[in-house]
Amino acid sequence: MTEVLTLALFAAAGLAGWLLGRRQRRSGLHAGVAPHLLPDPALEWLRRAHHAIGVWITELDPAEEGPKAERILEPERLSVAQIVAVDRRLERARDQEQSGVERMESGMLVFHAQAGAAVGLLLSDGAEPVKLPVVEDDLRRLLEGVRRKPQIVALTQAQAQETSLESVGSVGLRLAYQLERNLDAQVVVAALDTSGVRVIGVSGRGDRRLLDSFLPPESDLARVAQGSLEPFVSSGEPLGGVVPDRRSRPGSILLLSMKREHQAIGAVAIWLTGGREPVGAARAELNETLDNAAPRIYRALLADQQKRAATIDPLTGLHNRRGFDEAFRLISTKEGALVYADLDRFKNLNDTLGHPAGDAALVHFARIIREQIRSGDVPGRIGGEEFAVWLPETGLDLGARIAERIRLKLGTTAWDWRGRQWPLSASFGVAACPETSRSLDNLPTQADSALYVAKRSGRNRVEKAGR
Ligand code: GH3
Ligand code: MG
Ligand code: MG
Repeated sequence: MTEVLTLALFAAAGLAGWLLGRRQRRSGLHAGVAPHLLPDPALEWLRRAHHAIGVWITELDPAEEGPKAERILEPERLSVAQIVAVDRRLERARDQEQSGVERMESGMLVFHAQAGAAVGLLLSDGAEPVKLPVVEDDLRRLLEGVRRKPQIVALTQAQAQETSLESVGSVGLRLAYQLERNLDAQVVVAALDTSGVRVIGVSGRGDRRLLDSFLPPESDLARVAQGSLEPFVSSGEPLGGVVPDRRSRPGSILLLSMKREHQAIGAVAIWLTGGREPVGAARAELNETLDNAAPRIYRALLADQQKRAATIDPLTGLHNRRGFDEAFRLISTKEGALVYADLDRFKNLNDTLGHPAGDAALVHFARIIREQIRSGDVPGRIGGEEFAVWLPETGLDLGARIAERIRLKLGTTAWDWRGRQWPLSASFGVAACPETSRSLDNLPTQADSALYVAKRSGRNRVEKAGR
């Protein structure tokens, strides 16, 4: 008898260990994530609150290799086969976005799924049916928490950074979440940037596709952000339909401006719960939150603009040498082609037509380069009349063909300065990883040498490296 008991204890401990190991391996959360917003330890509370046998979560995470799963359960009440059966059932619910109640061998499974995630609660057969709506309601809330988790992790990581290093995105996101938490409302934060009013924060209930999009200048939120419209409660669509937002519900939307030293810097849209505007202490807290955020958003915007100014060539709008080198260093791809281009006999053009004509020719060439490359390619003006293009995932031959396309386009597009026609041409050098070098580090020198060969061989031509 004692042996049987010992064996059973070992089996239970083994299973518990397996489950624990599984959970730890898979959770992978950033240390310091606010626990009350996450499934854990809410899972255990939920299980206890409903006297359930177990709570399950399964979600597809595009950033990870496979689905992630978490479960809290009482191992002694289930066999491994029964646990696996619930796992499978929930995975199916997740993939087919099903919700419902189903009798399993081990008990009654209540489950709810949406947008790549499913949660479930396994109740013992004796559970009172009257509690089902409460269980379903709790599961819906749990699922909402699960779906917000990646954003919360991102937030915590942003919070761990120095305040002085705050990016516009992290200030915006934090403000959106803070307001959502305080007011129990969906929130969108927009800031006045050099090129327009940009969405910099969307709370958990909002549509993340809005992030980083520019609002139409005539939209209500953009006008409040610019200071051309006083704050008000709108009943329309304040974002100018920038993203077809499935989740946006008609209702009262409070639009408030953010100012720094009386200068408009942005605005927030708050979808009022039950149409009620916050008053009294709640309103004071809201104003204080916005007053605190405004200077931080302003500082972050300024830092962004300064960084951009240091890395962008003001004449052509392409990356300058520093910006190009940074972009090249930060690339995630390890293969691709690097093209160097240098306008031919440019000194001659400058000397004959004057410096402003030279500048106009540089802008013209930059436009042609932009038009001939794909959106993922990185163009730059890395010297006076020298340009570079990084073509990720592009072989040597294709890189040379793209360079040839640019060369031909430049040669066949008429260019004049104040009515005087001037022929433009350029020489090109192309190097590629892995064809001409196994390391990206050698590509600039190789492309430069190939360009030198092209110049020496008569100009207006494309040369590949390593010949
Ligand atoms: P090659 O065919 O050998 O490249 O001859 P090149 O005349 O183009 O080369 P060189 O290096 O002798 O002259 C480059 C000229 O580019 C000299 C400089 O005045 C001009 N340049 C450099 N930066 C600018 C600029 O920003 N604007 C204008 N207008 N000219 C520039
Ligand atoms: Mg040159
Ligand atoms: Mg030149």
